[in-house]
Amino acid sequence: MANEQTPVQLQFLGAAGVVTGSKTLLQAGDKKILIDCGLFQGERSERQLNKIKRLPFNPAALDAIILTHGHLDHCGYLPVLVKKGFKGPIYATAPSKDITEIILYDSAHIQAEDTRAANERRQLAGKKPLKPLYKEKHVRRTMALFETCPIREWVEVAGVKFRFVKSGHILGSASIELETHGRSIVFSGDIGRQRPLVLDPPTRPEKADFIVLESTYGNKQHGIAFSPYQVLQEVVNKTYEKGGVLVIPSFAVERAQEIIMLLNNLMREKSIPTLPIFLDSPMGSEVTELFQKYPDWHNMTEEEGTSLTENVHIIKSFDETLQVLHENGQKTKIIIAGSGMVTGGRVLYYLTKLLGDEKNTVLLVGYQASGTRGSQLSNGAASIRIDDTDYAVRAEISQISSLSAHADQSDLLWWLASLQEAPKQIFLNHGEPEPAQELKSKIEEKYNWLVVVAEMDILYDL
Ligand SMILES: [Zn+2]
Repeated sequence: MANEQTPVQLQFLGAAGVVTGSKTLLQAGDKKILIDCGLFQGERSERQLNKIKRLPFNPAALDAIILTHGHLDHCGYLPVLVKKGFKGPIYATAPSKDITEIILYDSAHIQAEDTRAANERRQLAGKKPLKPLYKEKHVRRTMALFETCPIREWVEVAGVKFRFVKSGHILGSASIELETHGRSIVFSGDIGRQRPLVLDPPTRPEKADFIVLESTYGNKQHGIAFSPYQVLQEVVNKTYEKGGVLVIPSFAVERAQEIIMLLNNLMREKSIPTLPIFLDSPMGSEVTELFQKYPDWHNMTEEEGTSLTENVHIIKSFDETLQVLHENGQKTKIIIAGSGMVTGGRVLYYLTKLLGDEKNTVLLVGYQASGTRGSQLSNGAASIRIDDTDYAVRAEISQISSLSAHADQSDLLWWLASLQEAPKQIFLNHGEPEPAQELKSKIEEKYNWLVVVAEMDILYDL
């Protein structure tokens, strides 16, 4: 393995110049390994890449895939490779495998629905029908290829040796420390904050020849805004005094569980009244169960872990959704529903019923991409459109900005600070050009190391 003459190359097939579509090809001699295999998301032009971008390798000849975590932009393209002949192992931590399974079935389901709707329109226009990227059967075949790895344990495959270390981003998320032909490489994956709310802090690298570092918030400081406890407490109490309903559009992975934990803690310490909490997100409920299945992967207390499901009404069917607003009369209740940026999901139904009344509150709890209904609400829109109808916004709109699963600029610099020696080169991926450039300047200024903003498809020799 220590042949330093053997060529080793990196090629970024996604998440270069953009945040989504993470796929990094590592070629070590005649072996090929893919780090992450994500979908492009977001703007239409970026999503189009899922269909039109060609891969520079035959999936059947790929030796292995190593997965940092279960977010769609890191795992959502796996079934396409399997459909095209990939049969090798997919390595992940155990919680990442379970989250990936939830996310991929959901993705196949959404694609089936979207394709059906689009094809109805296309048929009327006399156009050829579209096909989804993959179906449930491809997800099933994908899941059969998974091999789970305990944290920090070295694994050998196709001429490389690697291990996962915790990255503090979501349940099961990991960075990858890898060695091949005398080179050591660390792939950061997505990194959490220095002190995540419910996870262990990211493990920082001590030594590496090469580093591939995410740069999502390379130009931002999350700041020491109000603590999420403080904001939640104020919002709940105010909504309670007005006798309204609190709706929290939330991401299913991590954020929903954090919010439930915060609410339960506030109720336990009597900072807010004891109110019914409804979790109306089928994916959110499944991920919540994973928090109970993997207690070693987060640092909620046993009590906090148990109350994630015990003090919460889990809504399964849409029939139940229709009942939620009528339960216990008009009394204040808290509803957590997907999706987090109000782009779809059950939260839309609640908003059509609740937005028009100033007694109610909508609490946004995460990043709101521009163009989404979430960002319109956060920017004070007078009305928003749902299913061809405009709904006036009279409810109060609040926001918690201090919950982020991503390291900001100082967290990223902190992550690098544990390196004992200068790495030969740092590649910045998973960022828009501006944050990546600013992070590059900051690293150069602070450490004087060689930093390259990764470009899509270029072959980098290590
Ligand atoms: Zn992520």
